[in-house]
Amino acid sequence: MYNHPKTTIPDDPASGNERLELMKIVPYPHPALRTKADAVAMIDQEIQTLAQEMVELMYEHEGLGLAAPQVAVGKRLIVMNFAGDEEEKDQEFIAINPVIMEMKGAIEEREGCLSFPGLYAKVRRYRQVKVQAYNLKGELYEMTCTDLAARVWQHEIDHLDGVLFIDKLGLVAKLSTKKAIEEFQEDFDKALSRGEYPADITPKL
Ligand SMILES: [Zn+2]
Repeated sequence: MYNHPKTTIPDDPASGNERLELMKIVPYPHPALRTKADAVAMIDQEIQTLAQEMVELMYEHEGLGLAAPQVAVGKRLIVMNFAGDEEEKDQEFIAINPVIMEMKGAIEEREGCLSFPGLYAKVRRYRQVKVQAYNLKGELYEMTCTDLAARVWQHEIDHLDGVLFIDKLGLVAKLSTKKAIEEFQEDFDKALSRGEYPADITPKL
């Protein structure tokens, strides 16, 4: 957890400049959501484009955060806006290879996820976290957050390890969401049989 993966800026910033395929948020139980993402070794044009497109998708879907595995990309990259407001750019953060350095306290609050549209449940999280991550310029930054922002960091970093908020539910929330989660499974199976996802749905990159 304290082992911070390093990342660098390429000598040739135009490398990897292929346009990413049109990306979309994949719903549970897409296998990309259960795959541990790889550290970003280099912040090339592809990573820059990925981050920009993820930011746009996050706002489009009115989320507070989005992790690369949610667009079926197995990279340790997350985008967040703690206000959930495109106008509030000072609340927007891009985090590459993020790591939680310290955590404090505990609090249970209602939480949702863009990979589970319409599903909300109470999840217990640390109340405060100190995190470190790289920005798109390859600079390491550190911040300490509490409450909602701390919750977003924990939720998104979990995604990079294939961990989902439904894994963290208490017994009552587990029972009350059981049916909805089964419906996600059924809908996904139907989408698969309609060919909405390619036969090979392992994460790209
Ligand atoms: Zn999520």
